[in-house]
Amino acid sequence: MRLFDEHVVLRFALLLACFLFAESIPGILNFSEHVYNFIPYFLAIVFLAYVAIFYKFPLDGNKKIRNDVEIPEPKSVEPIRDLKKDLLEKDEMFQMMIDVSSDGFWTFDVATGKVYWSNRIAKLLAAESSSLEDSFEPLKNRVIESDWNSFREQLNSALQNAGTFSCNLTLLDASKKNAKLVISGRVQRNEVGRPIRVIGSLTELIDRKSAERERYNYVYQDALTGVFNRKYFLEKLKTDVDIAAKRPDYVFAVALLDIDSFGAINASYSINIGDNVLRTIADRLKSIARPDDCVARIGPDVFAVILHHIQSRDPNDDLIPLVRNIHNKVKSPIPLDGKDLYISVSMSIVLNQDVDCVEDILANANASLRDMKKGINHGGIQFFSGGIREKAMKLYKLEFEIRRAIQAQEFVLMYQPIVDIRAGNRIVGFEALVRWNQSERGIISPAEFIPIAEETGLIVPMGALILRMACKQTKQWVDMGFKDIQVAVNFSAKQFSMDSMVDDVRRVLTETNLNPRNLKLEITEYTAMCEADKTIEIMRALSNMGIQISIDDFGTGYSSLSYLKRYPVHTLKMDKYFVDHVADNEEDASFARMVIGIAKSLNLDLIAEGVETKEQLDFLYREGCRLIQGFYFSKPLNTEMALEYMKKHYDVPATTKASEKPEVVSVEA
Ligand code: C2E
Ligand code: MG
Ligand code: MG
Repeated sequence: MRLFDEHVVLRFALLLACFLFAESIPGILNFSEHVYNFIPYFLAIVFLAYVAIFYKFPLDGNKKIRNDVEIPEPKSVEPIRDLKKDLLEKDEMFQMMIDVSSDGFWTFDVATGKVYWSNRIAKLLAAESSSLEDSFEPLKNRVIESDWNSFREQLNSALQNAGTFSCNLTLLDASKKNAKLVISGRVQRNEVGRPIRVIGSLTELIDRKSAERERYNYVYQDALTGVFNRKYFLEKLKTDVDIAAKRPDYVFAVALLDIDSFGAINASYSINIGDNVLRTIADRLKSIARPDDCVARIGPDVFAVILHHIQSRDPNDDLIPLVRNIHNKVKSPIPLDGKDLYISVSMSIVLNQDVDCVEDILANANASLRDMKKGINHGGIQFFSGGIREKAMKLYKLEFEIRRAIQAQEFVLMYQPIVDIRAGNRIVGFEALVRWNQSERGIISPAEFIPIAEETGLIVPMGALILRMACKQTKQWVDMGFKDIQVAVNFSAKQFSMDSMVDDVRRVLTETNLNPRNLKLEITEYTAMCEADKTIEIMRALSNMGIQISIDDFGTGYSSLSYLKRYPVHTLKMDKYFVDHVADNEEDASFARMVIGIAKSLNLDLIAEGVETKEQLDFLYREGCRLIQGFYFSKPLNTEMALEYMKKHYDVPATTKASEKPEVVSVEA
């Protein structure tokens, strides 16, 4: 307590005023001496009252509150309890606790027989609706019978004897894969021990491991075959590459297995059969793979296996027997409706030697597969070698270059004369042969780029360009007076399978204003045999337009000759392969005679290709072959030289003999 504060002067002034006032009152009122003697006592009372008043009750609110004592906060007044509201709040709180709990709660009223199920149980037991009947019926209907019987027994025994029980139940629910539940309860009794209620819980048993496994499988498993998927394969491969980077003795191999013509299996049988084939192959791979190997499906019809524990870097030691075994097992016939389905599988192997990243391993394995698929090793096993990769890189580069060249119109046509040796070596037409006039490398042969263009589909735009160029050029020659000249344009199988093929050709003819009889289309025997029905239809449409059709490289396809009768074909071109040795090999001579005979009997024109020597020419002349194409007469010529050639050999007297051969143009212009 402080004795002096800022108001002490004021207080003493007030005290003095009271004192003077009290002193003067008896005089003013003329009191007796007896009253006068009482004044000191009165003043003492006034003083004490002053101290009491100023200490306890300050005059001016907060300003007067003493800051040297702790004044406790006023205590809240205890409210009057509303029991009904209390009960409701507790009920709500209890309900919320039930709802947020992962367990379901239930109660059973012994007197009424009614069962209360919490929302969670309602959801668990009633798949669609969340409201349940207030009896044990919903539980009975949704769990397997033996479990229900055991629950009922335990409940009855708890009601009679023990207070608590717990048992397992199996939920009958396909979508939940028959989830396991645990139901438990405790019996509540009244004062005399009679059971009045059972309170219990129902919990879904989640096997953490199996849930994790399920999630893991979902992310990493191929749903169709059950083996790992591409995602897992790439991650595993990355791990292996990382380990190998630190441990030089860690050798592993990646095998890619590609089912050849899988599309044909789907198309000829059904997608279901195709799926079964994939599953069978996956099962075979799983059964043969060692525990540490990783089997995955990384493409629609491509499987990959990472083979670990390769003891030696020399594949001859342990890897070759291993991959042979896998290949043999995988490609063995698949039983299908009592018959055997034969499949062919190409397998490429890459060792982690010399490759230090996932991308390289995969690129090498893919290049190897691509290489196999094109060559004779199709359906076999091939170990990657650096050359293949280089070749693949070259091919990719070429593909890019071809695209660019189409845009830049770097393709030019050469024209090789076709002459009639029975009409004074008169020129009847040309074969248009494409060349790539590349700025850096000069003229490139079609043998280098046509196969790539075919494989990549670039042959379609390139072919359209070639057709337009050939038609335009032919029209110019026709307009110059070479009215009957016929130019043959090569068409690949891909071009021929285009739905728009006939319309495209018609459009080019219209645009260039060329008469269809001046155009011939050359397709190989192989192209003619592909999708035979469709091809015949296209040929008929072209033939009806007045365009002639030639079968190129005749004799090299292994087809039956009967197709020739069905096809609207005008000309056969005997392949150079048979012409080469007609003069010195009796077998080839017999074959050439046979081809000439076929053409005669079917009333078709025959052109002998690749004629280089006088002996070949004489043989063909003797056997009755009329049309010749080959270096003996001329190599393919550029447009100017082709025009020169035509000028000399278009109008020749029909009496000229074959032996009086015209001047040979010996170099390709
Ligand atoms: P092809 O259609 O059988 O063409 C004949 C090939 O034989 C031409 O080769 C031609 O130059 C060559 N040749 C002709 N006479 C002789 C000869 O006496 N001796 C030798 N050694 N060769 C002769 P080229 O021009 O290199 O064409 C090769 C192949 O490329 C063609 O074979 C054809 O399949 C394809 N091709 C060429 N141009 C085109 C085209 O415009 N489109 C398509 N799709 N393919 C084409
Ligand atoms: Mg040809
Ligand atoms: Mg040919």
